[in-house]
Amino acid sequence: MTDKSRPEEPRVREAAAAGGPWTRDGGSMPYAVTHGGTGTLPRRSARRLTVLSGPSGVGKSTVVAELRRTHPGVWLSVSVTTRKPRPGETHGVEYYFVDDAEFDRLVAAGELLEWAEFAGNRYGTPRSAVIEHLEAGVPTLLEIDLQGARQVRESMPDALLVFLAPPSWEELERRLRGRGTEPEEVIARRLEAARVELAAEAEFDITLVNTSVREVCERLVALLGA
Ligand code: ADP
Ligand code: 5GP
Repeated sequence: MTDKSRPEEPRVREAAAAGGPWTRDGGSMPYAVTHGGTGTLPRRSARRLTVLSGPSGVGKSTVVAELRRTHPGVWLSVSVTTRKPRPGETHGVEYYFVDDAEFDRLVAAGELLEWAEFAGNRYGTPRSAVIEHLEAGVPTLLEIDLQGARQVRESMPDALLVFLAPPSWEELERRLRGRGTEPEEVIARRLEAARVELAAEAEFDITLVNTSVREVCERLVALLGA
């Protein structure tokens, strides 16, 4: 793995002090329960949140799946989405797949830490499970888009924002098409979004170039302090 252009520049911030500027919400937590986030976690010192972002097709889901497999001590937030499941995706594992009405309800109830519309679907992070895991000291990772990362930066300034970059634009296009999960029209929208996302790299604390999934995972685990 190559740590892009600024290997020794200390864009990684100091570790957050215990606690944080966020508050526990009082709403119900239907999206926390099946992932063991509520009430049963041992108390360790609070963690800062780590966020992984990057253009569609760069390999975020692949990295997250590898982390899930090799580092069960890292807790990966499961987002809510209005997108339809791809073949092989399971409700409650990759995402909670919900309809528009349920997504509206979650937004109105303040149950999402952040949310965004991306390429025609909505995605959001259930708030309570994230807060519970951080307060319990569990290394916690969100895999979200740029708009979501910006919202987290606003609400949790201590969060560590990690940008996953492709080795090149051509390789990004190749990966997105090679995945074969979207029709051409959706690929075009995702590539359009990718140009915007790539331009925002400097807003992140650190960049990891995804040449090797295994190396990106190892680096992430180190950043998470897991
Ligand atoms: P994202 O979640 O960022 O949209 P995916 O994880 O679905 O991206 O990856 C897009 C495609 O790129 C998949 O076919 C995946 O197997 C492939 N891929 C991911 N990481 C790498 C890598 N380091 N080298 C080569 N191909 C990769
Ligand atoms: P996909 O449809 O390929 O699974 O995801 C599309 C985009 O949505 C990706 O960039 C992914 O990071 C982003 N995403 C997934 N979950 C969330 C979320 O909870 N919030 C936000 N803002 N983006 C998300």
